[in-house]
Amino acid sequence: MSKELLERLWKIDRTEFLWNGVSRILSWDMETEMPSKAAPERGRQLTLLTEARLQRLVDPEYKKLLDQLGCTDANPAGTIAKTDIEKTLVRSHYRYYTKNTKLPKELLLEMTEHEVKAHQAWVEAREKNDFSLFEPFLTKSVELVRKKAEILGYKEHIYDALLDDFEEGMTASEVSRVFAEMKAYLVDLLDRLKRVDQGSNEVLYKQYDNDKQDVFGREVSKDLGFDFSRGVMKESVHPFSNGMGAHDTRFTTRYNEPSVDSSLFSTIHETGHALYEQGFGEELEGTTLAGGDSLAIHESQSRFWENIIGRSREFWNCYYPRFQELFPEQTAGISVEDFHRAINQVKPSMIRVNADEVTYGLHIILRFELEKALVAGEVEVADLPNVWNAKMKELLGIIPETDDQGVLQDVHWSWGLIGYFPTYALGNLYSAQFYEKMQEDIPNFSTLVANGEFAPILQWLQTHIHQHGSVYTAGEFVERITGKPLSVEPYKRYLESKYGSLFLQKGEV
Ligand code: ZN
Repeated sequence: MSKELLERLWKIDRTEFLWNGVSRILSWDMETEMPSKAAPERGRQLTLLTEARLQRLVDPEYKKLLDQLGCTDANPAGTIAKTDIEKTLVRSHYRYYTKNTKLPKELLLEMTEHEVKAHQAWVEAREKNDFSLFEPFLTKSVELVRKKAEILGYKEHIYDALLDDFEEGMTASEVSRVFAEMKAYLVDLLDRLKRVDQGSNEVLYKQYDNDKQDVFGREVSKDLGFDFSRGVMKESVHPFSNGMGAHDTRFTTRYNEPSVDSSLFSTIHETGHALYEQGFGEELEGTTLAGGDSLAIHESQSRFWENIIGRSREFWNCYYPRFQELFPEQTAGISVEDFHRAINQVKPSMIRVNADEVTYGLHIILRFELEKALVAGEVEVADLPNVWNAKMKELLGIIPETDDQGVLQDVHWSWGLIGYFPTYALGNLYSAQFYEKMQEDIPNFSTLVANGEFAPILQWLQTHIHQHGSVYTAGEFVERITGKPLSVEPYKRYLESKYGSLFLQKGEV
């Protein structure tokens, strides 16, 4: 009987996985191939799919099945599932069901309608550099997410309910704790780095041929382990990656950046996400548990390959000769040391997505502090530009001259995505914590990277993370792998060692 109940849920889950693939194919096409005039119709096609999928939520059999599996709010994994995989299957369906049925349909519709308008208002406000055009919409968005959070419920802080949407089980108090420690360290490190000579990064801002960048990016992506027989790489305005099916993982990059490293690192970043999606264990094939669900764990993978591997000296010892071969004029007279320093320069800047490894975390902390204060009613939307600028001064020591360089720069709030930002910086912390463990397990780590032999490294990630897909939450993954809860210490040690040898040992100027 219990086996049969689980079989029924697996069947529903496999259908859901197929639906996911179909709608992601449409979204992929929208970002990479679709003519712009087809946008309204594509919107209707996607809505049609969403409506069809949501039918399951009103099917009494689905609810009955979850009841029979023993699911309750106190015990979402129910009483029948035994293995970790079964428990996550049941828990994830119960979570999906409760999150979508607790909220009244009117509120969901109101939010969807409002988000489209708020996004349009944000686009215009950013273009005209006028926050007042976005302000009433953001005020309403904050009101709506507060309403949503109250209905979904939370134990301590209203922000918990929003955070949980993007990172299951994470709380505002836990994020506050780790971010406070990160902030103190990063502000100090930045202060030390500001006082040393970091050399020039002009080499990155020369003209680089897009086709040759594409050749280099593909070679690197393949070497890191991306399987092109089960995946595709293309170009789009905003880089992203997604799984369309068990053997179809796709990602995009862009070559229209002012500096050559932004393009290359966006390729490596998205490859990191895609490797996670390609690496699921056999028993998860064709289910929604294959691939990552925790945004922070996903981000730990992309940032591991982008920063810890891609910005390392060993990586460039291996790849710089090939880069020079493709770009002899641009790199003439630039040694591998010069190049490595150029791609690791630390300098406070206004725009998050272009920030270096050190200041990036501060950009995220700023957003988290503002979001938390906004939903708690401690900061008014009307005051946001001023509060933003004051925080920029406090954390990075610079103030944006215009709001499009400041409070209007990110798309997230325009879509009502409040609670998302912390996952980016949590990803950095997890990546450093995994990296320390990996170095213990793989003593010749540096030599492998210097030789371009990434297979043992990818194998380690597959064993500990990728094969498990989304069977574990971020908190469970980090405990299982390192035996410890989330900690800022490995991240501090990683940055200290990296920037110590890069810039700080030379002494202050
Ligand atoms: Zn990412």
